Amino acid sequence: MAGTVHVIGAGLAGLAAAVRLATRGVAVVLHEAAPQAGGRCRSYFDKQLGAVIDNGNHLVLAGNTTMREFTRTIGSEHTLTGPDRAEFAFVDLESDERWTVRLSEGRLPWWIFDKHARVPGTKWSDYLSLAPLLRAGPDATMTDAMNCPPMLYKRLIHPLFLAVLNADPAEGSAQMAGAVLRETLVPGGKSCHPLIATQGLDVSFVTPALAYLKAKGARVMMQHRVRELHFAADGSRVEAIDFGDGPEPLAADDAVVLAVPPNVAASLVPSLTAPDEYRAIVNAHYQVPPPPGCPPMIGVVNGVSDWIFAFDGRLSVTISGADHLLDESREALALRIWEEVAKACKIPSTPMPVWQLVREKRATFAATPAQDKRRPGAKTRWRNLLLAGDWTATGLPATIEGALRSGNLAADLLHRA
Ligand SMILES: Cc1cc2nc3c(=O)[nH]c(=O)nc-3n(C[C@H](O)[C@H](O)[C@H](O)COP(=O)(O)OP(=O)(O)OC[C@H]3O[C@@H](n4cnc5c(N)ncnc54)[C@H](O)[C@@H]3O)c2cc1C
Repeated sequence: MAGTVHVIGAGLAGLAAAVRLATRGVAVVLHEAAPQAGGRCRSYFDKQLGAVIDNGNHLVLAGNTTMREFTRTIGSEHTLTGPDRAEFAFVDLESDERWTVRLSEGRLPWWIFDKHARVPGTKWSDYLSLAPLLRAGPDATMTDAMNCPPMLYKRLIHPLFLAVLNADPAEGSAQMAGAVLRETLVPGGKSCHPLIATQGLDVSFVTPALAYLKAKGARVMMQHRVRELHFAADGSRVEAIDFGDGPEPLAADDAVVLAVPPNVAASLVPSLTAPDEYRAIVNAHYQVPPPPGCPPMIGVVNGVSDWIFAFDGRLSVTISGADHLLDESREALALRIWEEVAKACKIPSTPMPVWQLVREKRATFAATPAQDKRRPGAKTRWRNLLLAGDWTATGLPATIEGALRSGNLAADLLHRA
């Protein structure tokens, strides 16, 4: 590409597009509305906790190939750590039962034949109920597509896919769940090793990407919100970008990668169909050292909490599909979650440690079949405008992997053009 590419939005999709283009020697300018990059995947200093925390606990898996390639490129792969086996600890808060699901490494799922590796109370044949997800059609929800025995559903499938889709499996798209299954459980445990950005999302995904872009000569402009895109009268291209001081014309071979959230994209691009329903995520952080032997993550069954993450000096809880918790008082919710954490981690519940509660109302688009149909591809009817973002038609739910893939695709399409 001879011209300059203006990447709008420095979330992971925009960063991926910018990194990919800059690697290929393309002139890139990255415009971000906020004072910091990272979008929904960012770290910040929290005064209440006196520590740097992430806007939400993010989990990625070894099988997220695009994420691994991205972190390799920007030199931060070593900052993602996790157990060297695909093991997932669970606790049932009602019965106080505890178990660990231990996936076998290879393609053959030996673990389902081992009663110490699979979910207690399930049979190996129960796991075959996942197979229909791999060939589900676009209209089916997970529970339409599969007939999962109740014990397996409650103790593994529900917590796992609620986290993966950020939507309850009763409404979540079976096709998107199948896409995740195909890239994780199907290739085997080696693709399911959990990876956690233990030093924070910023250290793993954002600061090194910005440093990489700087080294490649790309320009990064923070607090540079795009107010309007101007389209040529013949409908062929974007001809100017308005940052608030009037239209700034683009050269004939310049291009735009629009990597903003779907509601912003819909306000900038005429007649764009994009997802318009969202699901919330709640994160609760407690300033307390994890007890000795505490697993890095614990799945919670029969609680309001979904997953407990053990960080250095802090226990953090993630609750997906959390719209029902948006109106509850912060204090009451923080206490309710803390009591569960104390029980799950077998630590005293009083006094309650210093805490913080972060509610992301529009954490992701709703991963339902109806919303999936509203996801546009990367190409638009304007030859120099490409879309990117976790909400574009990646086939995956709204994830780091999907966001990065969408950015790469936009960059590849521009490069080929
Ligand atoms: C709490 C939470 C937990 C999550 N957990 C996980 C997880 O465990 N695993 C996982 O894989 N994914 C997880 N995700 C999803 C993941 O964070 C997102 O899929 C990903 O970060 C989306 O990146 P994006 O670039 O598509 O969008 P965004 O991050 O939304 O980036 C869009 C950017 O555009 C900027 N922008 C907006 N308007 C303008 C404008 N007019 N001009 C210029 N810039 C603009 C925004 O400020 C933002 O920086 C989680 C998300 C949240 C919120």
